[in-house]
This record gives sequence, structure tokens and C-alpha cells, in this order.
Amino acid sequence: MEIRRGIAASPGIAIRESFVLDSEGVRFSRIAISPEEVPQEKERIEQAFAKALFEVDELTQQVADRIAPRVAEIFSGHAAMLQDSNFLEEFKEAVQEYNISAEVAVSRVIRRWRRIFQENDSLAMVASDMNDLERRLLRILTGRRREDLKNLNHEVVIVARDLGPSQTASLDTNMVKGFATDLGGPASHTAIVARAMNIPAVVGLENITADVSGGDVLIVDGSTGVVIINPDEETLEEYRSRQSVYESRDRSLLEQYRDKPAVTPDGVKVDIFGNIEFPKEVPGCLAHGAEGIGLYRTEFLYLAKEQSPTEQEHFDAYLKAIKFLHGKPIIIRTMDLGADKFVGHDLDSERNPFLGCRSIRYCLANPELLRTQLRAILRAAQFGDARIMFPMISTVQELRSARAIMAEVIEDLEKQGIPHQADIEVGVMIEVPSAAIMAEELAREVSFFSIGTNDLIQYTLAVDRNNRRVAHMYSPAHPAVLRLIKMTVDAAEKHKIRCGLCGEMGGDLKFTMLVLGLGLRQVSVSPALVIPEIKKIIRSVPMEKARAFADQALAASDPAETDDLIRRFNREMMPDMFN
Ligand code: PEP
Ligand code: MG
Repeated sequence: MEIRRGIAASPGIAIRESFVLDSEGVRFSRIAISPEEVPQEKERIEQAFAKALFEVDELTQQVADRIAPRVAEIFSGHAAMLQDSNFLEEFKEAVQEYNISAEVAVSRVIRRWRRIFQENDSLAMVASDMNDLERRLLRILTGRRREDLKNLNHEVVIVARDLGPSQTASLDTNMVKGFATDLGGPASHTAIVARAMNIPAVVGLENITADVSGGDVLIVDGSTGVVIINPDEETLEEYRSRQSVYESRDRSLLEQYRDKPAVTPDGVKVDIFGNIEFPKEVPGCLAHGAEGIGLYRTEFLYLAKEQSPTEQEHFDAYLKAIKFLHGKPIIIRTMDLGADKFVGHDLDSERNPFLGCRSIRYCLANPELLRTQLRAILRAAQFGDARIMFPMISTVQELRSARAIMAEVIEDLEKQGIPHQADIEVGVMIEVPSAAIMAEELAREVSFFSIGTNDLIQYTLAVDRNNRRVAHMYSPAHPAVLRLIKMTVDAAEKHKIRCGLCGEMGGDLKFTMLVLGLGLRQVSVSPALVIPEIKKIIRSVPMEKARAFADQALAASDPAETDDLIRRFNREMMPDMFN
């Protein structure tokens, strides 16, 4: 049994066999074999070595010709390993000794060597060569380059170097019960998607792929960020019972709070909305007590396929979400493509994609895409209470340009006699520090704000939301972030527009009263699962106390100080939830 600690990315506990997906997407799972199959598996290993050697020789030649002989030497090193008969013997012995398939033997033996090399800094390169060799051998043995994750036929937890948000979004939740990755940060889009899909996940584990073989039993505790490899019986029992406590606690909270309004004991009402990436999530949000959708991340329509969606595809998706809502509000955010949410081509070459042509900048540079999307939103909006929100606004001019495009779209629809909702609320996300600082100017031109703390934190603190190495510096309660939130709320109040918050901070229970104390009266959260608990907190803490606590946090000089204040306040006000 081994215990690894990473970043808790999506709550819940999963206990299943692992399905290891290496960075090239090669799949293998534990296959115990009978003693009669041993000679055949040994033969497969010999053949795989021979084929790998042939490939490596070819590659060495090509690299020497086309790149440089110096670079080709790397592959000569691989060839030398493949020609080493003692090395080959180790794999065959593993098959014989443990009665395991060739694939599993490759994984085990290479893992052992990789660990030895990883312990010695000067041999780190050799460790990475081992990865390369493993991928090659497994690809040859499995006979395919990529196995489709959609074709899983038993329940697993995925172990991978990294999973992109679109890869995560396409996981089959009937089969994938959790995942654990080497890379990733707490506010990465992968984590957000995992939460939306209710898949327990731990990210930023550094080298879980090196420590786990396909078929190992794994406990993934996405609430605490712990992964346990091959747990002993006692640990398994403990986690099974935690799992059922977790599930029954959820059920009883749901029954108690789902239909109650979020009102503080001193009578302040707060709107609790849900965040979605796909229309099919709307019923789940409502079932957990959401009063509307505060953020529909429409860019996931683009991630699902190679081509941009057509106007009809946009329209169908929006109409579906709107219909599920039966008149409750939905804030449809125009596409927020770019950075880690883009699978296309031209943006890949940007050196700093988070500071590049992403989101509204990309839309303004490609107005046809925005036009198509706006037409569809305006047409669908006739069927319910839909609002439009522009993301990543950093100047007033950007907002005006987007609105100008929208005005043209409305004019076109009118001319063409196509039914639509011209009178629609328009808002902006406040997720860039310049927008928070200029909130007064922006407030004059929109109907609402929604604070995107995920980006606001990363841009304010210069901490990449996806980078595990700086994840400890990603502090939602940094006084600088709190002051920007407060500036935004004050500007909205002064200009009498609504202000919500839709970043992941809103779904993190420890920040609930802080966020309310700062003046927010609308919070859109993910996962929907936490809504009953959020309502419980709001219904037990007077707003007056939350305000005084937020004032203290705003006056703090350091994130450690605010963290301490938060811990003490929560423990004092809600001892049963925060101990
Ligand atoms: C945010 O930045 O807080 C936000 C909600 O947008 P996204 O996470 O999609 O970037
Ligand atoms: Mg954002």
C-alpha cells in the first residue's frame, strides 16, 4: 500500500482498478495468465523487442539524416537497451514468476528501472528514456496507437499524466469513476469539468503514472487530495464506509435544503445558481436546488468537434437548456476559447496563451464566429429568460465592440424577419484586474457583472491556474483579490446593477460567508452537489456577522492572515461543518 498526496480537484471517493493512460494514450490493464500461456507471452516480449529495435534503428537513421547525428545518439541509447540480453531476460522472468501478460511485465520492469533512475538527478534523462521505451513496447504489444476511452467495458479510475478538458468531458461516467493525474491545478478546466461530471479527481500528483500499473486497485479521495495505491483490507474498509457516509450525508442535506431559499437568519436573500458546460447538466442543477444557471460555458460546444458549430447547433443547445429551466434565468456566456480551452491550430503557437488572443479577443478577431453564436442566442432567448455575458473584458472599448456586433446581428435578424429577443440583458465577466479597477465605467454600460475568480486570481497574483508548482500560491482569499471583488461589488451597487460571482471560489464552502460578507447576493456554483450545503451555511450565519468578518479580511496584509481568519470564523459560526 502506498499513499500519495496531490491537489483535491473534484470531491468524492472512488475505489476501483486503475486504467493507466500514458501520455500517448496507450492502454493496458492487468491480465493474469495461466502457466500454459507463459511461453507464448515470453515470445511476445521477444518479438516486441525485435520490432522496437527495428523502429528505433530506422528512427536513429532518420534523425541523423534530417536533424543531427548528436540527437540521433539518444536513440542509439534506446537501441542499446533493446539489444541488452540481460535486460530482455528480466521481462521474461517477470512473466514467468508472476504469471502476468507481456504488457504488465513491461510496465512493471520499466517502472522499477525508472524509479532507480529517478532517485539519481544525473540519471533523470535515462528515466525519461524509459518512458519512451515503455510507450513503444506497449504500443507494439497492444497493436494500436490509441485506445478509445469511450470503449471501456468495466468500471475504472483513470491514471494519466494529464487529461485535457475536452478529454475529460468525453469520459464515459458509467465506466470512469475517478481519475488521478500527474499534472493540473485546482482551478484548471479539467478540474472544473470533473466537478461538473461528479467524478472524484486528484490532480498534481507529480508522478502517479510512474507509481501505478494498470489493474492496481486505487482509492481516489477527491475531497482530501489523497490517492492510495493497492490499499490493505483495513484501509479499503475504512474508505468504503467513508464513501457511504459521504453519500448518505449528501442525500440527507439534499432532502433538507434543496427546496429552501438561501436566506440568512437576519433576512438577506441570496440567489444560488449553477454553472454548466452542457445543457444536460441543467436538470441536475435544479434537482440540487439551483434557482437558475449563472454561467453556461458555451465553448464546450466547440471542444466536442473539429469544426465550429453551426448556428443551428448553437440554437439547439441553448434551446435545450432554456426549456429545461421553465422560465428560470440562464446566463449564456459567449465562447471563451483559447488558452487551455482550445483544440485548434492557430492559437497553439502562442507563447503565453493565457495572455494572448483568448476569449473575447478571439471573438473580436473572428467576428463571424461571434455573429453566428449571437444569432442563435437571440433566437433561443424568446423561449425563456436568457441573458448574454461577454467574458474576459479588459477595456470598455472591447465591450462596445462586442455590443456593436450584437446590434448588427439584431438588425440582420429584423431585416430577415427571423423571430428573436432583441431586448436582452447584457453583462460582462469581471475576471481581469483592469476590469475590476474600471468597474464603475463598465457598470454604466451593462445590466450585470459576474466575477470570474478563477481568472481574476491568476491574473491578479500572476499564478497560472493550471500549474501545480505554484498551486500553493493560488489564494482565493488573498487580500488583493478580495479588494478587487469589493471594488466590483461597490461599483455595481452604486450603478444599481446586479453583481454575481461564478468562479470556483463560489462553490468552495469555506469561502461562502466571506463572499456574501463582501456584498455578493448571487453566487453561481459548481458542482451542483454543494448547493444544499451552501444553503445550510447561509441559513445559519447572520449577514451582519459575515460583513464584519469580510471587513477584517479586507484589512489583512497577507493571504495567510485571511486564511486564518476564515478558519476561525467558520469554526466558530458552524462548528458542525468546519472542525
Ligand atoms: C472564471 O475565470 O472564474 C470563470 C468562471 O471562467 P472560466 O473558469 O471558464 O475561465
Ligand atoms: Mg475565466
